[in-house]
Amino acid sequence: MSGRHEKDKGVNVQVLLRCRPFSEDELRSNAPQVVTCNDYQREVAVSQNIAGKHIDRVFTFDKVFGPLAQQKDLYEQAVVPIVNEVLEGFNCTIFAYGQTGTGKTYTMEGECKRSKSGPNGELPSEAGVIPRAVQQIFDTLESQNAEYSVKVTFLELYNEEITDLLAPEEISRIALEEKQKKQLPLMEDGKGGVLVRGLEEEIVASATEIFTLLERGSAKRRTAETLLNKQSSRSHSLFSITIHIKEATPEGEELIKCGKLNLVDLAGSENISRSGAREGRAREAGEINKSLLTLGRVINALVEHLGHIPYRDSKLTRLLRDSLGGRTKTCIIATVSPAVHCLEETLSTLDYAHRAKNIKNKPEVNQKMMKSTLIKDLYGEIERLKAEVYATREKNGVYIPKERYYQEESERKAMADQIEQMGVLIETHQKQSEEWRERHEAQVRQCSDLSSKLSATEKNLNQTIKLLTCTEEELTKCRYENALAHQACVLRSDLEKALQDNASLFQKIGREDKLSSDNRSVVNNFRGQLSQQIVSLCNLVSTSISQQNEHLQCVQELGHSFLDVHHKSIKELKKKLSASRAVYVSHIEAMQNVVRLHKASSIAGLEEISSLASSSTQSIKDYLESEAGQAASIFDDLQSSLSTHQGEVALFAREMRQRFLVSSEKRKEVSEYMNGFLDKILEQCKSLENHAVHADAIQMKNINDFQEAYEEQSKSNAEKLVADINNLVSNHLQRQKELVDARLVDLRETATGNKAFLDVHVTSMESVSTDAKRKWQEFSMQADDDAKDIADYSAAKHCRLESLLQQCVSNAGSAFEHWQKTHDSVNKMGKNHVSELELLTRNVSESIEQHDAEVDSARVTAEQDVAKNSEDILKRIDSVSDVERGSVSKILDAVKAHANVLETFREDHSGKSAAIEDRAQETFEQRYMDYESTGTTPVRSEPDVPSKGTIESLRAMPMENLLEEFRENNSYESMEVKELKPSLIPRSPLAQLNQQ
Ligand code: ADP
Ligand code: MG
Repeated sequence: MSGRHEKDKGVNVQVLLRCRPFSEDELRSNAPQVVTCNDYQREVAVSQNIAGKHIDRVFTFDKVFGPLAQQKDLYEQAVVPIVNEVLEGFNCTIFAYGQTGTGKTYTMEGECKRSKSGPNGELPSEAGVIPRAVQQIFDTLESQNAEYSVKVTFLELYNEEITDLLAPEEISRIALEEKQKKQLPLMEDGKGGVLVRGLEEEIVASATEIFTLLERGSAKRRTAETLLNKQSSRSHSLFSITIHIKEATPEGEELIKCGKLNLVDLAGSENISRSGAREGRAREAGEINKSLLTLGRVINALVEHLGHIPYRDSKLTRLLRDSLGGRTKTCIIATVSPAVHCLEETLSTLDYAHRAKNIKNKPEVNQKMMKSTLIKDLYGEIERLKAEVYATREKNGVYIPKERYYQEESERKAMADQIEQMGVLIETHQKQSEEWRERHEAQVRQCSDLSSKLSATEKNLNQTIKLLTCTEEELTKCRYENALAHQACVLRSDLEKALQDNASLFQKIGREDKLSSDNRSVVNNFRGQLSQQIVSLCNLVSTSISQQNEHLQCVQELGHSFLDVHHKSIKELKKKLSASRAVYVSHIEAMQNVVRLHKASSIAGLEEISSLASSSTQSIKDYLESEAGQAASIFDDLQSSLSTHQGEVALFAREMRQRFLVSSEKRKEVSEYMNGFLDKILEQCKSLENHAVHADAIQMKNINDFQEAYEEQSKSNAEKLVADINNLVSNHLQRQKELVDARLVDLRETATGNKAFLDVHVTSMESVSTDAKRKWQEFSMQADDDAKDIADYSAAKHCRLESLLQQCVSNAGSAFEHWQKTHDSVNKMGKNHVSELELLTRNVSESIEQHDAEVDSARVTAEQDVAKNSEDILKRIDSVSDVERGSVSKILDAVKAHANVLETFREDHSGKSAAIEDRAQETFEQRYMDYESTGTTPVRSEPDVPSKGTIESLRAMPMENLLEEFRENNSYESMEVKELKPSLIPRSPLAQLNQQ
């Protein structure tokens, strides 16, 4: 697939198609399917009948993923090779293109953020391209045991404005809107690419971190969405993974391989057509879709091989320029929905994607960087950032973090302290330089010792060389090469050691030379500074002296002027004192006048008061008299009305008595009449009783008469008829006789009953009348008693009223007397009052006289006191001014003395500073000496030392023999001069052998 052989021709952009399954809504609404995918043939067919017309189109792509394809399938078939390329050092880009809701985000990010990774690091099945790619990268790099770094960026492009989705949360939330205003700018990176300035690069250490980042990005996208009314369907998001892998070349150079994977979730493709439709909503719509439109135009231009490709027209195409017709490997995943209502968009997506297939890129591996270049680049980056910080600071004046400000503040303080300390240090340095000079001299001496030693060593060396020549001659004669060779080895090592010593000695000499020249310059500097400081000190002293002189002058002048002023002011004070004395006296007089006025007015007031009091007493008297007349008349009225009352009451009692007598007469009459009436009733009752007895007797006699008459008649009738009617008539007669008898009995009984009834009634009548008579008598007796009682009561009441009236009259008389007494006492009080008032007035006027006398005397004493006091004050002022004059003249004397002292001080100081300067000059010019070269120091040389091999080649004899022979021929004494160990100094002519 990578097709390296086609490199020159270019590689087509790989275009995949993914069709999502029906969503639940679409399934519910039974939406017909219009897209069919044939994964194996890599074909997508769209078929639909519209208004009887059958549309049937087939598109072929590099890969086709139908609704059944899982995230894993897509990834393994399409993305794994791309990620491998990235790991090989290519830059690769994957675009997700399609209508909103067709699964772009699902494909790129997946829906697994919340679930996180499964057990043992497995990704959830819903994970999209981004997490899987990161996982693959880490897996591969870990298995290669490579040293690597993985960085990711995540940005959003909305309305031609770039937002960092990984920017730290707290900044982004608070200043989100502000941040929206100052967007991250795009900058040329100087290598033909662009970069986003200020974009947060997050280093990822493990694959699981990617979920946190994705979640963070999405969360930020969501907040931005709600805050700014964005729609995610209108924004593009770009997730970039940059990998640096360390590689070692066979030569041991360290190289850095770099690969980058861009994963782009584009805005919904429907936005292209819509923006075209709504031209009215110019800017917003235009800006939002500018990137998408420009992407389309860029693809067009690339496919049709137009000369100008409008990369620069939008930020998206600028950012991803290299992915479109550049050196990047590019893959486009077009997503579509199978449902009919998306048909139009689906067709346009398919067209778009099909067209993009023709874009050719020329992928190139990123050049591997040397580690050092990378570091250099990083330094460049640091410089750039520094410059940026500087620029930012310039814009708003000083702009540094608070902590740094405090830190610098404290550093500044520390520096001030340091400066002080340095002043102290200078002194110690002065001392130190003295020491150094001494040390330097010692070192110079040491140096000359060392060079003499060195020349001795060199002499020794020459000797050794000569000895070596001799030894060699001896060796050629003798056949003890082995022993000699060994000795030569030893000798060689000695020689090397000596040479090293020699070299180190030379180095030491060099160092010392340097040290002494450094010391010289230090001393020179110090001398210059010292003389400068002395001069400045002198200047300081002289200016201070002149200042002090000026001060003294001033003090003197001030003393004089003070005296003048004082004199004047004392004169004025005296004048003011006498003036104030006069004023005081005049004031006292004025006060006395006021007192007099006051006195006159108070006397007048008192007189007025007393006259008022007498007049008021008079008026009270008059008033009381007039009132007394009135009161007497009122009392008279009262008395007369009381006596009329008395008369009336007596009259009333008399009348009452008469009426009472009349009424009791009338009552007597009534009672007599009543008694007569009752007696008559009793008489009537008796006559009725008699009548009843008489009537009863008559009735009885009548009945008996009738009975006798009837019996006689019946006897005659019976005798006549007895004969006729014997039986019948006798019966009948019998019966008739019985009937008449019965009838007569009844009549008798009735008469007796009547009589009894009448008797009863008469008796009851009698009893009732007697009762009534008795009762009436009782009543009349009672009434008589009552009348008597009432008469007694009214007589008593009359008496009481009489007495009360008498009391009233006597009360009125006493009240009148009391009134007259009151009147008299009031009159008396008024008189007393007036007399007291007069007394008081007299007293007051006397006390006023007394006051007047006191005021006079006080005035005289006050005047005397004032005169005395002002005299005293004047005396005191004179004495004080004498004292002041004396002290001022003392001050002036002191000033003169001080000026003299200053003069002597100045002379002393200039003498001393001159002495210091002379001393310094003498020290530095005459006493302090530099080392002067004698020219005898030998020059450094590099003598050749024989190699071990050549010596070894001479080895032939056993060691012991050689050693014995050597020791026989060589005594130790001859090597006294050298410091080397005698046993190591051979005497053989090997040097010559080596040189051959
Ligand atoms: P877009 O990329 O346009 O923003 P989304 O990725 O948000 O679209 O997808 C829209 C909805 O469709 C989501 O709920 C997602 O779960 C679902 N979806 C998209 N593609 C698939 C797919 N291949 N399989 C299952 N569900 C999918
Ligand atoms: Mg989306």
